[in-house]
Amino acid sequence: MTVSVAIIGTGPAGFYTADALIKKGLDCTIDLIDRLPTPYGLIRFGVAPDHQTTKKVSRAFEKTALADHCRFFGNVEVGRDISLPELREMYDAVVLAVGAGHDRHAGVPGEDKKGVIGSAAFVGWYNAHPDLRHLNPDLNSKSVAVIGNGNVAIDIARVLVKTREEMADSDLPEYAAAAIEAAPITDVYMLGRRGPIEAKFTNVELREMGELKNAVPLVDPAQLPDEVGALDNPRDQRLKEKNLATLKEFTRFKSSDAPKHVHFSFYANPVEILGGEHVEGIRLEKTHVVDGRATGTGEFFEIECGLVIPAVGYRSLPVADVPFDEKQAIVVHKDGRVVPGVYAVGWVKRGPSGVISTNRPDGAMAADHIAADCGEGGKPGRVALTKCLAERGVRVVTFEDWKLIESAEVAAAPASAPRRKFETVPEMLAVLGA
Ligand code: NAP
Repeated sequence: MTVSVAIIGTGPAGFYTADALIKKGLDCTIDLIDRLPTPYGLIRFGVAPDHQTTKKVSRAFEKTALADHCRFFGNVEVGRDISLPELREMYDAVVLAVGAGHDRHAGVPGEDKKGVIGSAAFVGWYNAHPDLRHLNPDLNSKSVAVIGNGNVAIDIARVLVKTREEMADSDLPEYAAAAIEAAPITDVYMLGRRGPIEAKFTNVELREMGELKNAVPLVDPAQLPDEVGALDNPRDQRLKEKNLATLKEFTRFKSSDAPKHVHFSFYANPVEILGGEHVEGIRLEKTHVVDGRATGTGEFFEIECGLVIPAVGYRSLPVADVPFDEKQAIVVHKDGRVVPGVYAVGWVKRGPSGVISTNRPDGAMAADHIAADCGEGGKPGRVALTKCLAERGVRVVTFEDWKLIESAEVAAAPASAPRRKFETVPEMLAVLGA
């Protein structure tokens, strides 16, 4: 008998789970379900368009998708085309790898004003996510405030100040390239509520800021400590030391060096987004860090801006028929096991942290649970799903179909770009004659 496994979500966590099941040598079939016709989740829609090297991990995922065990069921939405209880009836194991595609709110008054756009939405927009292609952000502002000091904040700041030529090797969609090029943006403020040592961005991403054609990073030397101080974790220590060295190097830049500027504003806690219906600025309280926490000093300042992008982390939405911890915004589980037969991996299990490979151990853990819980299996899995979706008239996108979509995107790519992404699901399906 064969264990039938359905994995919902085909981002890194989903693929690492499939890979772990295969490597474990479990006699299983693995069906990879995605609501979009395209696989790879955040690799396609989250990783910045100018970070094509990072996106190359999808080649390894493709090998997994092409393994005998696996089938891709694209354009199949759980909750619309099929329910989770139905999948549980059909499959011995169902793995939730649905990620955290929504914005966490910063909890700052005024966040509901026009001109405040969360990072998940903004990143989805410049990555041609079909749900966000029509976001149409108003970029008609000289200054932009990006709240947060993580890698997402730094990605957004960089994409906003890079020139079209610098993005030529990327898969930034034309509508976003045109909107950014036409925008009058000259100053992007990266607002960290804590200091440079506490900032979460990594060093490669930080250093890129010093290598831009039309923009320079601006850092106030008075905000930089002489040393990092002793940290418990040696890896953290090395990263923070590198970041501090890079930020010290950045103090040589002056605003007259380039027409655009990325201001690293540390110790700045947003307390209010200002304006009427539309954003006109942001009010911040200066802080100092006490026992690792940002503590207000009672001193306030304002930055005039027409766009505020909170990049303060993502959140998962509750999954129907699964217990959900609202506070942590993750499904309730014990070491990845929700109940025997249902497992969680990746950001819906851990919350939105870590790099792509951080999801690998989740996959291994889920594979161990599946091997321990599912015995020899016996549920029909793929046969039942295929029949059910056919009866419901769902146009399933197979992996072969995806490769046709991908080939069409590559064929349509401008000169040095890797692909021109389709921006809507109907456009993708049209390639398949559907
Ligand atoms: P993140 O790394 O958790 O950073 C969130 C930032 O928002 C932190 O600076 C945090 O400050 C700040 N923040 C949170 N709540 C806030 C509030 N209410 N007011 C002001 N600031 C607030 O999250 P992320 O940038 O969204 O990234 C998510 C994950 O994806 C991370 O693990 C990241 O490394 C990864 N990622 C990696 C790459 C890459 O490798 N190139 C690219 C993109 C994303 P505190 O620290 O003070 O809480």
